[in-house]
Amino acid sequence: MKRVLHDDVTPVRTKPFPSWPVYGDLEKQLLMEVVESGKWGGTSRIKLEQFEEKFAAFQNASYAISVNNGTIAITAALLAAGVKAGDEVIMPPYTFIATATAALMFGALPVFVDIEADTLLLDPEKVEAAITPRTKAIIAVHIAGAPADLTRLKEIASKHDLQLLEDAAQAVGAQWEGVGVGAIGDIGTFSFQSSKNLNSGEGGIILTNDKELADRAWSMANVGRVRDGAWYQHEEIGWNLRLTEFQAAILLAQMSRLESQCQLREQNAAILTDLIGEIDGIQLLKRDPRITRHAYHLYMFRIASDLAGRIDKADVIKRLQAEGIPVAAGYVSLNQNKAIIAKTKEWSGEDRLYSCPVSERMCDKEALWLTQNVLLGDEQDMVDVATALRKVIRFYS
Ligand SMILES: *Cc1c(COP(=O)(O)O)cnc(C)c1O
Repeated sequence: MKRVLHDDVTPVRTKPFPSWPVYGDLEKQLLMEVVESGKWGGTSRIKLEQFEEKFAAFQNASYAISVNNGTIAITAALLAAGVKAGDEVIMPPYTFIATATAALMFGALPVFVDIEADTLLLDPEKVEAAITPRTKAIIAVHIAGAPADLTRLKEIASKHDLQLLEDAAQAVGAQWEGVGVGAIGDIGTFSFQSSKNLNSGEGGIILTNDKELADRAWSMANVGRVRDGAWYQHEEIGWNLRLTEFQAAILLAQMSRLESQCQLREQNAAILTDLIGEIDGIQLLKRDPRITRHAYHLYMFRIASDLAGRIDKADVIKRLQAEGIPVAAGYVSLNQNKAIIAKTKEWSGEDRLYSCPVSERMCDKEALWLTQNVLLGDEQDMVDVATALRKVIRFYS
Protein backbone atom coordinates (compact mmCIF):
# COMPACT_ATOMS: atom_id res chain seq x y z
CA MET A 1 0.00 0.00 0.00
CA LYS A 2 2.75 2.44 1.03
CA ARG A 3 4.75 1.42 -2.03
CA VAL A 4 1.93 2.30 -4.45
CA LEU A 5 1.48 5.68 -2.81
CA HIS A 6 5.18 6.40 -3.11
CA ASP A 7 5.21 5.42 -6.82
CA ASP A 8 2.35 7.75 -7.53
CA VAL A 9 3.98 10.85 -6.09
CA THR A 10 7.50 10.26 -7.39
CA PRO A 11 7.93 11.68 -10.91
CA VAL A 12 8.61 9.02 -13.52
CA ARG A 13 11.64 10.99 -14.51
CA THR A 14 13.74 14.00 -13.50
CA LYS A 15 16.59 13.51 -15.97
CA PRO A 16 16.49 16.00 -18.86
CA PHE A 17 16.01 14.77 -22.43
CA PRO A 18 18.82 15.36 -24.96
CA SER A 19 19.59 19.03 -25.48
CA TRP A 20 19.45 20.85 -28.80
CA PRO A 21 21.36 21.97 -30.82
CA VAL A 22 24.03 19.29 -31.12
CA TYR A 23 27.41 20.63 -32.24
CA GLY A 24 31.13 19.91 -32.19
CA ASP A 25 34.52 20.88 -33.55
CA LEU A 26 33.36 20.90 -37.16
CA GLU A 27 31.05 23.89 -36.50
CA LYS A 28 33.98 25.81 -34.97
CA GLN A 29 36.35 24.86 -37.77
CA LEU A 30 34.02 25.84 -40.62
CA LEU A 31 32.99 29.05 -38.87
CA MET A 32 36.64 30.06 -38.45
CA GLU A 33 37.27 29.32 -42.12
CA VAL A 34 34.56 31.84 -42.97
CA VAL A 35 35.89 34.42 -40.49
CA GLU A 36 39.40 34.15 -41.87
CA SER A 37 38.33 34.16 -45.51
CA GLY A 38 36.84 37.62 -45.12
CA LYS A 39 33.96 36.38 -47.30
CA TRP A 40 31.11 36.75 -44.90
CA GLY A 41 28.17 37.21 -47.20
CA GLY A 42 26.84 39.38 -49.94
CA THR A 43 27.89 37.97 -53.25
CA SER A 44 31.24 36.44 -52.32
CA ARG A 45 29.83 33.02 -51.72
CA ILE A 46 31.95 30.10 -50.62
CA LYS A 47 30.14 27.83 -48.17
CA LEU A 48 26.67 28.91 -49.30
CA GLU A 49 27.22 27.41 -52.72
CA GLN A 50 28.34 24.11 -51.21
CA PHE A 51 25.48 24.04 -48.76
CA GLU A 52 22.81 24.75 -51.36
CA GLU A 53 24.12 21.95 -53.56
CA LYS A 54 24.34 19.51 -50.69
CA PHE A 55 20.90 20.30 -49.34
CA ALA A 56 19.24 20.16 -52.76
CA ALA A 57 20.82 16.75 -53.34
CA PHE A 58 19.69 15.57 -49.89
CA GLN A 59 16.08 16.43 -50.77
CA ASN A 60 16.38 15.26 -54.43
CA ALA A 61 15.81 18.76 -55.83
CA SER A 62 17.51 20.41 -58.81
CA TYR A 63 17.66 24.02 -57.57
CA ALA A 64 18.11 25.62 -54.16
CA ILE A 65 17.95 29.29 -53.14
CA SER A 66 18.95 29.96 -49.53
CA VAL A 67 17.17 32.82 -47.74
CA ASN A 68 17.25 34.32 -44.27
CA ASN A 69 14.28 32.52 -42.74
CA GLY A 70 11.53 30.02 -43.40
CA THR A 71 8.71 32.57 -43.35
CA ILE A 72 10.16 34.78 -46.04
CA ALA A 73 11.03 31.62 -47.99
CA ILE A 74 7.28 30.94 -48.32
CA THR A 75 6.61 34.56 -49.34
CA ALA A 76 9.33 34.47 -51.99
CA ALA A 77 8.14 31.08 -53.25
CA LEU A 78 4.54 32.31 -53.53
CA LEU A 79 5.69 35.38 -55.45
CA ALA A 80 7.95 33.31 -57.68
CA ALA A 81 4.98 31.03 -58.38
CA GLY A 82 3.02 34.03 -59.62
CA VAL A 83 0.71 34.57 -56.65
CA LYS A 84 -0.37 38.21 -56.42
CA ALA A 85 -2.22 40.47 -53.99
CA GLY A 86 -5.89 39.44 -53.85
CA ASP A 87 -5.21 35.85 -54.92
CA GLU A 88 -6.39 33.04 -52.69
CA VAL A 89 -4.02 30.46 -51.26
CA ILE A 90 -5.46 27.23 -49.86
CA MET A 91 -3.73 25.98 -46.72
CA PRO A 92 -4.45 23.97 -43.58
CA PRO A 93 -5.18 25.86 -40.33
CA TYR A 94 -3.12 23.38 -38.31
CA THR A 95 0.30 24.96 -38.90
CA PHE A 96 2.64 27.63 -37.60
CA ILE A 97 1.27 31.13 -38.23
CA ALA A 98 4.05 31.84 -40.75
CA THR A 99 2.32 29.76 -43.44
CA ALA A 100 -0.51 32.31 -43.41
CA THR A 101 1.53 35.46 -42.72
CA ALA A 102 3.77 34.63 -45.69
CA ALA A 103 0.73 35.12 -47.95
CA LEU A 104 -0.74 38.04 -46.01
CA MET A 105 2.63 39.82 -46.22
CA PHE A 106 1.77 40.94 -49.75
CA GLY A 107 -2.03 40.82 -49.76
CA ALA A 108 -2.62 37.22 -50.83
CA LEU A 109 -5.48 35.69 -48.86
CA PRO A 110 -5.25 32.47 -46.85
CA VAL A 111 -8.20 30.10 -47.38
CA PHE A 112 -8.32 27.52 -44.61
CA VAL A 113 -9.28 23.94 -45.48
CA ASP A 114 -9.63 21.53 -42.58
CA ILE A 115 -7.27 18.70 -41.71
CA GLU A 116 -7.79 14.95 -41.36
CA ALA A 117 -8.27 13.84 -37.75
CA ASP A 118 -6.09 10.77 -38.19
CA THR A 119 -3.05 12.55 -39.70
CA LEU A 120 -3.48 16.24 -38.74
CA LEU A 121 -2.55 17.02 -42.37
CA LEU A 122 -4.51 18.98 -44.99
CA ASP A 123 -7.53 16.90 -46.07
CA PRO A 124 -7.19 16.62 -49.85
CA GLU A 125 -10.83 15.64 -50.24
CA LYS A 126 -11.90 19.03 -48.88
CA VAL A 127 -9.62 21.06 -51.12
CA GLU A 128 -11.64 21.11 -54.33
CA ALA A 129 -14.73 22.58 -52.64
CA ALA A 130 -12.60 25.58 -51.58
CA ILE A 131 -11.29 26.40 -55.07
CA THR A 132 -12.65 29.64 -56.60
CA PRO A 133 -11.68 31.66 -59.69
CA ARG A 134 -9.30 33.62 -57.40
CA THR A 135 -7.43 30.54 -56.14
CA LYS A 136 -3.81 30.51 -57.31
CA ALA A 137 -2.01 28.06 -55.08
CA ILE A 138 -2.25 25.28 -52.51
CA ILE A 139 0.24 25.03 -49.67
CA ALA A 140 0.82 21.47 -48.50
CA VAL A 141 2.23 21.78 -44.98
CA HIS A 142 4.23 18.73 -43.87
CA ILE A 143 3.37 19.27 -40.26
CA ALA A 144 5.58 17.51 -37.68
CA GLY A 145 7.67 16.26 -40.61
CA ALA A 146 4.97 14.02 -42.11
CA PRO A 147 4.48 14.68 -45.82
CA ALA A 148 0.92 15.61 -46.79
CA ASP A 149 -0.70 13.52 -49.55
CA LEU A 150 1.39 15.01 -52.34
CA THR A 151 0.12 12.59 -54.97
CA ARG A 152 -3.51 13.62 -54.51
CA LEU A 153 -2.71 17.30 -54.02
CA LYS A 154 -0.65 17.34 -57.23
CA GLU A 155 -3.57 15.84 -59.13
CA ILE A 156 -5.94 18.49 -57.79
CA ALA A 157 -3.46 21.31 -58.44
CA SER A 158 -2.84 20.29 -62.02
CA LYS A 159 -6.54 19.68 -62.74
CA HIS A 160 -7.34 23.25 -61.64
CA ASP A 161 -4.14 24.82 -62.95
CA LEU A 162 -2.90 25.81 -59.50
CA GLN A 163 0.61 25.99 -58.11
CA LEU A 164 1.44 23.44 -55.42
CA LEU A 165 3.80 24.73 -52.73
CA GLU A 166 5.27 22.63 -49.95
CA ASP A 167 5.84 24.22 -46.55
CA ALA A 168 8.48 21.74 -45.48
CA ALA A 169 9.80 23.86 -42.59
CA GLN A 170 9.42 20.83 -40.31
CA ALA A 171 10.29 18.20 -42.88
CA VAL A 172 14.06 18.17 -43.42
CA GLY A 173 14.84 14.62 -44.50
CA ALA A 174 11.22 13.60 -45.08
CA GLN A 175 10.45 11.48 -48.14
CA TRP A 176 7.28 10.70 -50.07
CA GLU A 177 7.48 7.42 -52.02
CA GLY A 178 11.26 7.47 -51.72
CA VAL A 179 11.72 11.05 -52.93
CA GLY A 180 12.74 13.94 -50.68
CA VAL A 181 9.99 16.48 -50.10
CA GLY A 182 10.31 20.13 -51.11
CA ALA A 183 10.42 19.85 -54.88
CA ILE A 184 7.69 17.25 -55.41
CA GLY A 185 5.20 20.09 -55.75
CA ASP A 186 6.12 23.07 -57.94
CA ILE A 187 8.22 24.73 -55.26
CA GLY A 188 8.92 24.13 -51.57
CA THR A 189 10.47 25.80 -48.57
CA PHE A 190 12.34 24.87 -45.39
CA SER A 191 13.30 26.68 -42.18
CA PHE A 192 16.63 26.55 -40.37
CA GLN A 193 15.36 28.38 -37.29
CA SER A 194 16.92 27.15 -34.06
CA SER A 195 14.24 24.58 -33.15
CA LYS A 196 14.20 22.94 -36.57
CA ASN A 197 15.87 19.63 -37.39
CA LEU A 198 18.62 21.36 -39.36
CA ASN A 199 19.46 24.75 -37.91
CA SER A 200 21.72 27.77 -38.12
CA GLY A 201 19.87 29.89 -35.56
CA GLU A 202 17.83 31.42 -38.36
CA GLY A 203 17.66 30.61 -42.05
CA GLY A 204 15.60 29.08 -44.80
CA ILE A 205 15.75 27.66 -48.30
CA ILE A 206 13.58 27.33 -51.39
CA LEU A 207 13.75 24.18 -53.54
CA THR A 208 12.33 23.49 -56.98
CA ASN A 209 13.00 21.40 -60.08
CA ASP A 210 11.83 24.19 -62.36
CA LYS A 211 14.58 26.49 -63.61
CA GLU A 212 12.23 29.39 -64.29
CA LEU A 213 10.76 29.22 -60.79
CA ALA A 214 14.27 28.98 -59.36
CA ASP A 215 15.39 32.07 -61.24
CA ARG A 216 12.35 34.04 -60.12
CA ALA A 217 12.82 32.96 -56.48
CA TRP A 218 16.49 33.92 -56.73
CA SER A 219 15.45 37.32 -58.06
CA MET A 220 13.01 37.81 -55.14
CA ALA A 221 15.88 37.10 -52.73
CA ASN A 222 18.38 39.28 -54.59
CA VAL A 223 16.67 42.68 -54.86
CA GLY A 224 15.00 41.83 -58.14
CA ARG A 225 18.26 41.20 -59.97
CA VAL A 226 18.44 38.93 -63.00
CA ARG A 227 20.55 35.84 -62.41
CA ASP A 228 23.60 36.16 -64.71
CA GLY A 229 22.45 39.72 -65.49
CA ALA A 230 24.30 43.00 -64.89
CA TRP A 231 24.86 44.17 -61.29
CA TYR A 232 22.39 47.08 -61.48
CA GLN A 233 19.87 45.28 -63.65
CA HIS A 234 16.73 44.99 -61.49
CA GLU A 235 13.71 43.71 -63.40
CA GLU A 236 11.49 42.77 -60.46
CA ILE A 237 10.66 44.15 -57.05
CA GLY A 238 12.63 41.91 -54.74
CA TRP A 239 14.37 42.14 -51.39
CA ASN A 240 17.68 41.21 -49.90
CA LEU A 241 16.82 37.88 -48.30
CA ARG A 242 20.30 36.39 -48.36
CA LEU A 243 21.70 34.02 -45.78
CA THR A 244 25.24 34.70 -44.49
CA GLU A 245 28.35 32.56 -44.93
CA PHE A 246 28.46 32.07 -41.15
CA GLN A 247 25.11 30.35 -41.30
CA ALA A 248 26.20 28.23 -44.25
CA ALA A 249 29.24 27.09 -42.24
CA ILE A 250 27.01 25.99 -39.37
CA LEU A 251 24.54 24.32 -41.74
CA LEU A 252 27.28 22.35 -43.49
CA ALA A 253 28.57 21.14 -40.14
CA GLN A 254 25.04 20.30 -38.97
CA MET A 255 24.48 18.33 -42.17
CA SER A 256 27.31 15.98 -41.21
CA ARG A 257 25.02 14.63 -38.45
CA LEU A 258 21.70 14.94 -40.25
CA GLU A 259 21.41 11.45 -41.73
CA SER A 260 22.19 9.68 -38.46
CA GLN A 261 19.83 11.98 -36.52
CA CYS A 262 17.04 11.28 -39.04
CA GLN A 263 17.55 7.55 -38.55
CA LEU A 264 17.64 7.82 -34.77
CA ARG A 265 14.39 9.83 -34.68
CA GLU A 266 12.66 7.25 -36.87
CA GLN A 267 13.93 4.41 -34.68
CA ASN A 268 12.83 6.01 -31.45
CA ALA A 269 9.50 7.09 -32.92
CA ALA A 270 8.84 3.45 -33.86
CA ILE A 271 9.62 2.35 -30.30
CA LEU A 272 7.40 5.06 -28.86
CA THR A 273 4.59 4.13 -31.25
CA ASP A 274 4.77 0.51 -30.09
CA LEU A 275 4.78 1.48 -26.44
CA ILE A 276 2.07 4.11 -26.36
CA GLY A 277 -0.12 2.44 -28.97
CA GLU A 278 -1.17 0.03 -26.24
CA ILE A 279 -2.40 2.71 -23.86
CA ASP A 280 -6.18 3.00 -23.62
CA GLY A 281 -7.09 6.64 -23.95
CA ILE A 282 -4.24 7.45 -26.33
CA GLN A 283 -4.87 7.60 -30.06
CA LEU A 284 -1.89 7.30 -32.40
CA LEU A 285 -1.82 9.15 -35.71
CA LYS A 286 -2.03 7.18 -38.93
CA ARG A 287 1.09 7.07 -41.05
CA ASP A 288 0.50 6.89 -44.79
CA PRO A 289 2.63 4.01 -46.15
CA ARG A 290 3.79 6.33 -48.94
CA ILE A 291 5.69 8.30 -46.27
CA THR A 292 8.97 6.47 -46.73
CA ARG A 293 10.66 8.78 -44.26
CA HIS A 294 9.02 10.90 -41.59
CA ALA A 295 11.21 13.78 -40.37
CA TYR A 296 9.71 13.76 -36.86
CA HIS A 297 10.28 17.41 -36.11
CA LEU A 298 7.49 16.61 -33.68
CA TYR A 299 6.11 13.36 -32.39
CA MET A 300 2.38 14.05 -32.32
CA PHE A 301 -0.32 11.91 -30.77
CA ARG A 302 -3.85 12.41 -29.50
CA ILE A 303 -5.90 12.02 -26.39
CA ALA A 304 -8.61 9.61 -27.64
CA SER A 305 -11.79 11.53 -28.51
CA ASP A 306 -14.04 9.90 -25.89
CA LEU A 307 -11.57 10.67 -23.10
CA ALA A 308 -10.73 14.12 -24.49
CA GLY A 309 -14.42 14.99 -24.37
CA ARG A 310 -14.52 14.77 -20.59
CA ILE A 311 -11.08 15.94 -19.45
CA ASP A 312 -9.01 19.10 -19.77
CA LYS A 313 -6.05 18.97 -22.16
CA ALA A 314 -4.15 21.59 -20.13
CA ASP A 315 -4.51 19.38 -17.05
CA VAL A 316 -3.07 16.38 -18.91
CA ILE A 317 -0.12 18.48 -19.99
CA LYS A 318 0.47 19.77 -16.48
CA ARG A 319 0.47 16.23 -15.12
CA LEU A 320 2.80 14.91 -17.83
CA GLN A 321 5.21 17.77 -17.25
CA ALA A 322 5.16 17.02 -13.53
CA GLU A 323 6.26 13.48 -14.47
CA GLY A 324 9.26 14.96 -16.30
CA ILE A 325 7.89 14.67 -19.84
CA PRO A 326 8.17 17.92 -21.86
CA VAL A 327 4.88 17.54 -23.69
CA ALA A 328 3.37 20.59 -25.44
CA ALA A 329 -0.14 21.67 -26.44
CA GLY A 330 0.73 22.92 -29.92
CA TYR A 331 -1.09 25.39 -32.11
CA VAL A 332 -4.19 27.50 -31.88
CA SER A 333 -6.12 26.79 -35.10
CA LEU A 334 -5.19 29.60 -37.53
CA ASN A 335 -8.76 30.09 -38.76
CA GLN A 336 -9.46 31.42 -35.24
CA ASN A 337 -6.48 33.77 -35.04
CA LYS A 338 -7.75 37.34 -34.68
CA ALA A 339 -4.75 38.97 -36.34
CA ILE A 340 -5.15 36.77 -39.41
CA ILE A 341 -8.90 37.43 -39.56
CA ALA A 342 -8.30 41.20 -39.26
CA LYS A 343 -5.49 41.33 -41.83
CA THR A 344 -7.49 39.21 -44.26
CA LYS A 345 -10.38 41.66 -43.91
CA GLU A 346 -8.05 44.63 -44.34
CA TRP A 347 -6.68 43.24 -47.62
CA SER A 348 -9.93 41.84 -49.05
CA GLY A 349 -12.52 44.25 -47.65
CA GLU A 350 -14.60 41.22 -46.65
CA ASP A 351 -15.21 39.17 -43.53
CA ARG A 352 -13.70 35.85 -44.44
CA LEU A 353 -14.34 33.33 -41.70
CA TYR A 354 -13.60 29.63 -41.90
CA SER A 355 -14.94 26.80 -39.82
CA CYS A 356 -12.41 24.01 -39.33
CA PRO A 357 -13.90 21.78 -36.63
CA VAL A 358 -11.28 19.04 -36.85
CA SER A 359 -8.34 21.42 -36.50
CA GLU A 360 -10.08 23.29 -33.69
CA ARG A 361 -10.80 20.07 -31.80
CA MET A 362 -7.23 18.86 -32.19
CA CYS A 363 -5.86 22.18 -30.93
CA ASP A 364 -8.27 22.54 -28.02
CA LYS A 365 -8.80 18.97 -26.88
CA GLU A 366 -6.70 16.23 -28.41
CA ALA A 367 -3.32 16.85 -29.99
CA LEU A 368 -0.15 16.58 -27.91
CA TRP A 369 3.44 17.10 -29.03
CA LEU A 370 6.89 15.97 -28.13
CA THR A 371 9.70 17.90 -29.81
CA GLN A 372 12.36 16.26 -31.97
CA ASN A 373 15.15 16.34 -29.36
CA VAL A 374 13.18 13.85 -27.22
CA LEU A 375 13.60 11.38 -30.11
CA LEU A 376 17.39 11.76 -29.94
CA GLY A 377 17.39 9.89 -26.64
CA ASP A 378 17.74 6.17 -25.97
CA GLU A 379 15.24 3.35 -25.53
CA GLN A 380 14.88 4.02 -21.78
CA ASP A 381 13.86 7.61 -22.61
CA MET A 382 11.01 6.26 -24.76
CA VAL A 383 9.99 3.83 -22.01
CA ASP A 384 9.84 6.77 -19.56
CA VAL A 385 7.54 8.72 -21.89
CA ALA A 386 5.21 5.72 -22.16
CA THR A 387 5.31 5.03 -18.42
CA ALA A 388 4.40 8.63 -17.63
CA LEU A 389 1.59 8.62 -20.17
CA ARG A 390 0.17 5.41 -18.77
CA LYS A 391 0.34 6.82 -15.25
CA VAL A 392 -1.34 10.11 -16.15
CA ILE A 393 -4.09 8.53 -18.26
CA ARG A 394 -4.81 5.99 -15.52
CA PHE A 395 -5.61 8.89 -13.22
CA TYR A 396 -8.67 9.77 -15.34
CA SER A 397 -10.13 6.27 -15.56
C1 LIG B 1 9.15 27.22 -38.46
C2 LIG B 1 8.06 27.23 -39.45
C3 LIG B 1 7.92 28.25 -40.40
C4 LIG B 1 8.69 29.52 -40.36
O1 LIG B 1 10.06 29.41 -40.37
P1 LIG B 1 10.97 30.56 -39.71
O2 LIG B 1 12.33 30.18 -40.16
O3 LIG B 1 10.79 30.48 -38.24
O4 LIG B 1 10.53 31.86 -40.28
C5 LIG B 1 6.94 28.12 -41.37
N1 LIG B 1 6.11 27.06 -41.40
C6 LIG B 1 6.20 26.07 -40.49
C7 LIG B 1 5.24 24.92 -40.59
C8 LIG B 1 7.15 26.13 -39.47
O5 LIG B 1 7.20 25.16 -38.57
